[in-house]
Amino acid sequence: MKKLEALCLMGWVAMTLTTEPKMEHLRNDFPYLREQINGRPIVYFDNGATTQKPQHVIDALVDFYINHNANVHRGIYQRAERATAMFEAARETVAEFIGAREEEIVFTKGTTESCNIVADSWLRYQLQPGDEVITTALEHHSNLLPWQQACKAAGAILKIIPLNEDGSLDMEAYAAMLSSRTKFVAATHVSNVLGTVTDVQAITALAHKVGAKVLIDAAQSVARKLVNVSDIGCEFVVFSGHKMFGPTSVGVLYVAKSMHAQMQPYQFGGAMVLAADYQHAAWMPMPQLLEAGTPGIAQVIGLAAAVDYIDRNIDAAEVRVHEAALVSRLIEGLSQYPRVKLLGPVNHLKEHGHLVSFLIDGMHTHDIAAFLDTKGICVRAGKQCAQPLGKLLGFDTSVRASFCFYNTLEEVDYFLEVIDEIAR
Ligand code: PMP
Repeated sequence: MKKLEALCLMGWVAMTLTTEPKMEHLRNDFPYLREQINGRPIVYFDNGATTQKPQHVIDALVDFYINHNANVHRGIYQRAERATAMFEAARETVAEFIGAREEEIVFTKGTTESCNIVADSWLRYQLQPGDEVITTALEHHSNLLPWQQACKAAGAILKIIPLNEDGSLDMEAYAAMLSSRTKFVAATHVSNVLGTVTDVQAITALAHKVGAKVLIDAAQSVARKLVNVSDIGCEFVVFSGHKMFGPTSVGVLYVAKSMHAQMQPYQFGGAMVLAADYQHAAWMPMPQLLEAGTPGIAQVIGLAAAVDYIDRNIDAAEVRVHEAALVSRLIEGLSQYPRVKLLGPVNHLKEHGHLVSFLIDGMHTHDIAAFLDTKGICVRAGKQCAQPLGKLLGFDTSVRASFCFYNTLEEVDYFLEVIDEIAR
């Protein structure tokens, strides 16, 4: 055997020996995955919609309500001060996780609310008639509609970066779209429909050349430890806690310090006000400026527990190799069926993907998902909150299997056995 081949084989053996058992071991941390359906464990392939929660996060939520519950930033008694300290420690944990400073982290309800805050608290104050905003053909509605509506209100123009044949972004077309009229660029890091991983550094660097500000939707990438705000260099990053093993109804809006002076209040009320009389008011600085009212305190603490879980257990490179192995096995299996149409950049996904979207000729996507459900397999079927992308690529709805490190090759093989019954 040649030396290179021998090294590759050794690497492969080491990878199989080290990543597979570790990943399988982590599966035990997720009580939900213990459920048995038809005598076998549930196959949860809907991680793009929401991930399951490890015991560590569930315990943090229960502990907060049993031992620490109090409102934050107001009470002058020990428990209230402790709750505030826990809440602010969570901000520090999240900031560190993405390479940000504490004051750059705004807690929101999730990716959708984070985008809407940027539209309402910043973009609408910037846009003049004739200005341009750029987003991509890949976007989830929540990283499209806020900009679409802000442009309509201001008489600005929304431009869409087209896709190459293989589902990747056409970066040449993007470069040609940029001009001094471009005020803002919003792009996804990983597409929730096609699984495409975009080059967020390049997107940001090109936008900065014309003075435009950049938002990155990290909803599908942050759990994979792919987000470091200083590496990306963008002004805004948005993501949701529930897609990274945390609770629902908590998310993050990262706002670079350089943008703080331009941010306007989103909602008015308690916690964001510095001083008020009946006719006038003055606001707290960032991030409190954008955190009106009682926040999701337990959810924020649960999110910090999720970050802690990821930090302690997950290696980004290992997860990529593991998820790419699942994606490759699924793509290879599905490619055997002439009736199956795979969506997205298949070769790219085999290396970088965590999801596979597909259609089966002659069968409605809802019927496919309902059939899989009878076999204990959970997948997403529908418009996937990205109707313009479906229209562009010529499908109305699609089926998506989206993986996480706790999924196994054995589950993919079972999935393929079940698919054989309907795709043959
Ligand atoms: N962007 C992307 C890429 C997503 O996958 C999702 C959730 N499917 C969202 C935005 C919206 O996230 P949320 O519903 O948690 O606000």
